[in-house]
Amino acid sequence: MAAYKTSSNSQGSSSMTGNSQTQLDAIQQQILDNNVCPELADSATQLVFGEGNPEADIVFIGEAPGKKEDLQGTPFIGAAGKFLNEMLDTIGLKREDVYITNIVKYRPPNNRDPLPEEKSVFMPYLESQLEVIKPKLTITLGRHSLNCFLPDLKIGQVHGQLESYQGRVLLPLFHPAAALYNGGKRQTLLDDFSLIPAILQKTTITA
Ligand code: URA
Repeated sequence: MAAYKTSSNSQGSSSMTGNSQTQLDAIQQQILDNNVCPELADSATQLVFGEGNPEADIVFIGEAPGKKEDLQGTPFIGAAGKFLNEMLDTIGLKREDVYITNIVKYRPPNNRDPLPEEKSVFMPYLESQLEVIKPKLTITLGRHSLNCFLPDLKIGQVHGQLESYQGRVLLPLFHPAAALYNGGKRQTLLDDFSLIPAILQKTTITA
């Protein structure tokens, strides 16, 4: 485990972790009970809520589940997820150390871009997830995720730079899928990822 792994992970008691997980489970149930995005819910196989350490220092936020994620109910398990795992490995972390989720929790048909109203209707639930987890660092993956928090920023200009959103420390990164077939972006993403340990060391809990 990396030296910068922190307090919340290393000292969190199992009862606290259990409590956070219970709260996350309740948010997941709310999405179902409130019948959020019924059209997407109808066309999708299942809700893909999120996965990982409920008290993680880092939360990664992608766009929406793809085909594999929809079938298995787990975020980032396809090709982009594999690359995300590889990048985590380069900084000494595993998926279980972090929390991974998406803005939109159901797969859009044929992997189309999520619509603005789909993104906005899921935002309160994402905010609740962040409230429970209280990460030191929130990492947005791709422009959709970034622009849900900070609509005026351009991912090409701000990737790898710390931003702040309502008291949270936000690090915008390119989406791993964008880097799969683009060697330049792949290296940029790896370079940006390499900044994470130092950022975590400096960042105090702000949530
Ligand atoms: N792309 C995303 O944005 N999220 C996933 O879960 C998978 C691919």
